[in-house]
Amino acid sequence: MVSNSLIDPHGRKHNYLRISLTDHCNLRCFYCMPEEGIEFQEKSSYLTRSEIFEVAKTFVQLGVNKIRITGGEPLVRKRADEILRDLASLPIELAITTNGILLDRYLPLFKEIGLTNINVSLDSLNEEKNLLITKRDYYQKIRNNISLLLDEGITPKLNVVVMRDINQDEIIDFIELTKHSNLDVRFLEFMPFNGNKWKLEKCFSYQEILTEITNHYGDQINKLEDSFNSTSKNYKVSNYQGSFGIISSITNPFCEGCNRIRLTADGNLKNCLFSTEEFDILTPLREGSNIVPIIEDCLSNKKAVKAGIQTTDNNIETLEQNRSMISIGG
Ligand code: SAM
Ligand code: SF4
Repeated sequence: MVSNSLIDPHGRKHNYLRISLTDHCNLRCFYCMPEEGIEFQEKSSYLTRSEIFEVAKTFVQLGVNKIRITGGEPLVRKRADEILRDLASLPIELAITTNGILLDRYLPLFKEIGLTNINVSLDSLNEEKNLLITKRDYYQKIRNNISLLLDEGITPKLNVVVMRDINQDEIIDFIELTKHSNLDVRFLEFMPFNGNKWKLEKCFSYQEILTEITNHYGDQINKLEDSFNSTSKNYKVSNYQGSFGIISSITNPFCEGCNRIRLTADGNLKNCLFSTEEFDILTPLREGSNIVPIIEDCLSNKKAVKAGIQTTDNNIETLEQNRSMISIGG
């Protein structure tokens, strides 16, 4: 049961918290990490293990029943194992979004704590292109780790950011991965953040993705039912084991069903990925004050659609005011 503190002025109930463990990463995906890097803060500005647990517990008391760990790359955070163990002790569905590089190391822990809701990001099935996008040579490692998960009976969701003239020609190859495996591939529209040189023209839209797929598979494409809070519109090719979805944050937002609130690694709440507004909970937490009024303030300021920001034109100045994705936590 979600308490009134987690209901925004538009009646949406926020039962899903996404926690960024760090803004550090072992990859440098150009759409996420600005080319010039980001300014890291003093270590003391980041939430500690016990502070993360305290905030999570407060949210759970208010009605949160799902927590996703993200980053940066969450698994490069020191003591990530202890943080995950803490969170797994709460009555929630625990999930993680990762680039997959460290999955083999963490798999025993995931199995022990029952963490099977795993999203892995992979934007190309071509090794060279992957290097171009991530600027690091980990393609084989990531592919091996995805296979390892499948061998263990865990079927991850694969997140693919689709960018014009970069990887839109691989959409069908990704869907073919779902032919003999229960994988769920999710195509994400390329979103604008500070320093990622976004342009609307680079975003390969939901409609374009669907047209590409329909041109290839024709009436073999079946629409699946989407849950109310789903960010993706979901489909399946007839007789394929897995499925695919499209996350159309830019051209076809899904804000009416939004149930998400975000906590950055440096202790700020964000009510929307696109919002430049942040609500500091680190300071009150360290002062021993009640953080519930801050959570309420954060949600009472939530706009109906995409933080009131227009993303269907090249509105770069406004969009640039937001943090980079790597320091928000996707
Ligand atoms: N490092 C982890 C990973 O890559 O999965 C977790 C953090 S990453 C910021 C979370 C998700 O955000 C990834 O699936 C990534 O592809 C996605 N993402 C990052 N920047 C994006 C952008 N500009 N547009 C769309 N998706 C983006
Ligand atoms: Fe790192 Fe994930 Fe961002 Fe790539 S998308 S730079 S893996 S945080």
